[in-house]
Amino acid sequence: MKVVVYNLGCKVNKYECDSLLKTLSKRGYDVSEELVYADLYILNTCAVTNEAERKSRQCVSRCLKLNPQAKVVVCGCASQNDPNQFSQKSNVTFVIGNAQKGKLADRLEESGILLEPIPREYEDDFSAESVRTRAYVKIQDGCDNYCSYCLIPYVRGRSRSRSVKSVVEECKDIQFKSKEITITGIDISSYGKNIDSDLATLIDALSDIECRIRLGSLEVNAIDDNLLSALKKLKAFCPQFHLSLQSGEDGVLKKMNRHYTSDEYLQKVELIRKYFPDCAITTDLICGFPTESEESFESTLRFIEKVGFAQMHIFGYSKREGTVASRYKSLPPEVVKDRVNRAIKVADKKRQEYVESFVGKTLQLLTEDMEQGYMCGYSTQYIKCYIDGGESDSLYDVTVERAQDGIAYCKIN
Ligand code: SF4
Repeated sequence: MKVVVYNLGCKVNKYECDSLLKTLSKRGYDVSEELVYADLYILNTCAVTNEAERKSRQCVSRCLKLNPQAKVVVCGCASQNDPNQFSQKSNVTFVIGNAQKGKLADRLEESGILLEPIPREYEDDFSAESVRTRAYVKIQDGCDNYCSYCLIPYVRGRSRSRSVKSVVEECKDIQFKSKEITITGIDISSYGKNIDSDLATLIDALSDIECRIRLGSLEVNAIDDNLLSALKKLKAFCPQFHLSLQSGEDGVLKKMNRHYTSDEYLQKVELIRKYFPDCAITTDLICGFPTESEESFESTLRFIEKVGFAQMHIFGYSKREGTVASRYKSLPPEVVKDRVNRAIKVADKKRQEYVESFVGKTLQLLTEDMEQGYMCGYSTQYIKCYIDGGESDSLYDVTVERAQDGIAYCKIN
């Protein structure tokens, strides 16, 4: 739960706010003294002038603009002076004056306004009983990256990892029930940070798992020789690297608070291809970020051509109130839409080229369901394949006969 404690008054108010921030932080809440997106706003108001009181009232509306679902608690001089000016406002859940401010955290917890804080440790009490063709195993929650456009760190909390032992146990349990496991989390690249481990160590511990293993989305900084060597040792690794890009232009990447340059990204792609020459590099791209000029977008188009992505998820930028990027002026929606369409065209062309490069070659296909009269499934590289005949939920070695619209039409070997 994200809590903002906002000071509208003097140094005494500031002192009280600091103390409350400290208490809440110690109890595990994600706190901020800035007016950012939050679940709960505690406003320590001021009544030194009419203008100060007006600003205090206005602040409630500012909070609700940031998050219309948030609860607002008001304390301090303006509410002491006239509580009604706040209590009638929507979402204002609790109004006190200056008395008992020191016990505010307790009172809010007792009344249920302060919900349980997001834990700092991984809560290892989910277990997905998996009998599906492709299973997911969650290894981590939360994110510390604070990309400037993203709300996730505010609503999911800090990165925290499940223990290696617990992940291995679940994978062992699933390996004969499902044919493929996707290792998933909010930011699996940060796996291990809070438990003195890392992703390569976890992958090493999975080296005996029999079924196919695929990784979820990765950050560039996670790619190194250790991780790639560990992946190489897996019995059935699916060589698909979903390497989050978001923009191919350095200025935009910086404003997005992404911590790599396009050159560094490319170097990591080259390193991956040294270990897994035919692997699929897939990615996410945001088009129309507020600071993206036409020139920077064109650089991104050139960059995606250069990398040769096997598949891309392309999104138009969408403003999330409370994030750093929400303070930037958005581009007109038609510009964003146009860029999305242009990026999709390049992505489709590259996908087709990638699939064509497998014509005449063998892929291992895991079938799922019928589609367009064919049995449909995905290769280890996550190429969508169609075959004539075959059963669902089965593994086949197939030869690619032709590629059309990014789909491999194959025959069973
Ligand atoms: S985009 Fe991903 S890495 Fe960036 S803050 Fe959001 S969840 Fe974290």
